[in-house]
Amino acid sequence: MKITHVETMGLITPLKKPFKTALRQTSVSESIIVKIYTDDGQVGFGSAPPTAVITGDTMDSIKSAIVDFISPAIIGMDIEEFEPIMERLHRSIHRNSSAKAAMDMALYDLYGKHFKIPLYKLFGGARKELESDITVSVNSPEEMAWDAKAYINRGYTTLKTKVGLDSQLDIMRVKMIREAVGKDIKLRLDANQGWIAKEAVRTIRTLEDMGMNIEIVEQPVKAHDLEGLKYVTDHVDTPIMADESLFSPTDAFNILKHRAADILNIKLMKCGGLHNALKINAMAESCGVECMLGSMIESKIGITAAAHLACGKLNFTRVDLDAVDLMAEDPIDGGVIVTGSRHAIPESYGLGINGLK
Ligand SMILES: [Mg+2]
Repeated sequence: MKITHVETMGLITPLKKPFKTALRQTSVSESIIVKIYTDDGQVGFGSAPPTAVITGDTMDSIKSAIVDFISPAIIGMDIEEFEPIMERLHRSIHRNSSAKAAMDMALYDLYGKHFKIPLYKLFGGARKELESDITVSVNSPEEMAWDAKAYINRGYTTLKTKVGLDSQLDIMRVKMIREAVGKDIKLRLDANQGWIAKEAVRTIRTLEDMGMNIEIVEQPVKAHDLEGLKYVTDHVDTPIMADESLFSPTDAFNILKHRAADILNIKLMKCGGLHNALKINAMAESCGVECMLGSMIESKIGITAAAHLACGKLNFTRVDLDAVDLMAEDPIDGGVIVTGSRHAIPESYGLGINGLK
């Protein structure tokens, strides 16, 4: 099964409601879709969204990295030479983790099809379905409480609340959401780098003293501020999760070595795909650290790849794969079956994507 050529196309899907964090806001889900063709007529699907403020990648940069650098490095190779293909993929261009992730998942899709196995079984077959949280975008406390209640009424039991714009207002946001949803709903906070270390400690301690029962706080400080991240982790009781501080396996090693966070949020678009995500998860598990599998606002192809990985490995104890449910329509045929918070994995070989509807 030799790789013959690669195609890319842009896909834009509207969201039900604008997605707003401390870093950005968007009302659409944009992705570059990639198709890798082989000499025996198979097609592998991948996708990558341009999350410029997080990964530095844009629609044009993802396309160029795929067309001008990664594809020429792997065309002609046989899918059975999987490690050499991955080595070439990661050597073909520096950074560009989203483009690498799109190509990586399309290659895994082909690998699963070639050996006739759904990817979640290849990864270990730990489970067949996942329960995702859903993101409450950062807005006024009243609007966030209303959104939170609406998600609970639709069956969600875990909310990921965006904060990090103003710590006093953030405390009010959390208080109103907790009052709206009751004590049994799990509340995760994501500050998206919006606080400095001491402000984060003060805010999280206040929430602890108020009995807000926060499950995790994600990325309280700037991505590069590993000392700040460790300071927060060491000075609060609430578990702290690294997101934007964690891209590569080397980043994971540094966070784990210094115990700078309690939990890791792995996203394919940050680490460059499933191949590196497996390395990070194995390192974390070896250190007794659980992982969350997260996503960007991205197409169902990327969400399906993430879901296969999270279903494969026991160490993924949480998933944040709400992108499909946040979209007003789903243009992808096949892949993970999303019913609100529930994500059921397809039994077809590879990713189980059929193409565009
Ligand atoms: Mg995050």
